[in-house]
Amino acid sequence: MTEKKKVIKQQENACLVAKKCGGCNPGVPYEKQLLKKQRKVKELMQDFCKVKPIIGMEHPYHYRNKVHAVFDRLKNGTIVSGIYKEGTHTVINVDSCLIEDKIADAIIVDIRGMLKSFKIKTYDEDTGYGLLRHVLVRRGFTTGEVMVVLVLSSPILPSKNNFVKALRKLHPEISTVVLNVNDKKTNMVLGERNITLFGKGYIEDVLCGLTFRISPSSFYQVNPVQTEKLYQTAISYAGLNGKERVFDAYCGIGTIGMVAAGKAKEVIGVELNKDAVRDAVTNAKRNQIKNIRFFCDDAGEFMTRMAEAQEKVDVLFMDPPRAGSDETFLSSAVKLAPSRIVYISCNPETLARDVKYLTKHGYAAKECQPVDMFPFTGHIEVVTCLQRVDM
Ligand code: SAH
Repeated sequence: MTEKKKVIKQQENACLVAKKCGGCNPGVPYEKQLLKKQRKVKELMQDFCKVKPIIGMEHPYHYRNKVHAVFDRLKNGTIVSGIYKEGTHTVINVDSCLIEDKIADAIIVDIRGMLKSFKIKTYDEDTGYGLLRHVLVRRGFTTGEVMVVLVLSSPILPSKNNFVKALRKLHPEISTVVLNVNDKKTNMVLGERNITLFGKGYIEDVLCGLTFRISPSSFYQVNPVQTEKLYQTAISYAGLNGKERVFDAYCGIGTIGMVAAGKAKEVIGVELNKDAVRDAVTNAKRNQIKNIRFFCDDAGEFMTRMAEAQEKVDVLFMDPPRAGSDETFLSSAVKLAPSRIVYISCNPETLARDVKYLTKHGYAAKECQPVDMFPFTGHIEVVTCLQRVDM
């Protein structure tokens, strides 16, 4: 066995909960995972365009900058934190994970250890009693800033100052602690209200040379190393020359649009989550980008109004959630008739469905590039370049 193979083997054996957890599959060698993903994208996309070889990671471990743990108490009183066993509401205790950030994992384990002495009870989903539901940790890999979000069933955390002090003593790298109130019987992790207990209530990170502010509920790509490769591919597919009007749909905190802004005349970003839009507006100012505007709206409805107003768009970036886009959006996109559409997708099945619609309505898919954003899991990310066919 080569040295490299030995290391991989050791890492794979390092996960104690792999069989129960289902969050990833550490038993499959990385090269094999990449081949499988490549095959899957080929199957779905080869009728539309050329599929480039997937961009894998050099070090496909501990890449997740966001770690979420659900808290629970076993019948014997032991407190556990980790993830739900696949398809159940049984919590699997996780101390460390092959794909999660190590610092984030350590913080969660220490919070678990502090609960008893602070008399903080974990929340019981069935009875609705108890306080602590989840902990979310996000770390800016470039800046080193760390945000801890304590998701509680009530806005009151007894001895909150001492709790934060004790936690920061163990982890001085924590730059902000936020209390998120989730008092509803729901599967959603975060509630709507955030109370900052320490620091500024958000973290910043640097991506493609720009600084981004990230609030607790804003979407931010979980694998920053691969995100840069993803965005670079998307920008090169857009073929910008400085004169275009660019539309960044499903823009989150404005990352893609802001990277594009330096190469375009004007950018418009649309996003449904109001916290993400607030971050996007701040981010534009922070990076002194003046040719970008953001709107908080449903991307499809916004698109429709733009098409009705006969507005012009040269390049459309679209990066919808796993469910893909919808016909309201796609039909309006076709009416707006941008010369290029760059479709960034985290689900090749809905990508293929939407690309089929676009290729029937005046577009040709030129090429697609899979990027492995989620090693050891089944998730696949793909960027596709579509061009308007002269009709
Ligand atoms: N392009 C961003 C975000 C992609 S994730 C990035 O790379 O970071 C998809 C985003 O779409 C999320 O921020 C989500 O809040 C947003 N979203 C979901 N449904 C939407 C809709 N109907 N209209 C606009 N935005 C939506």
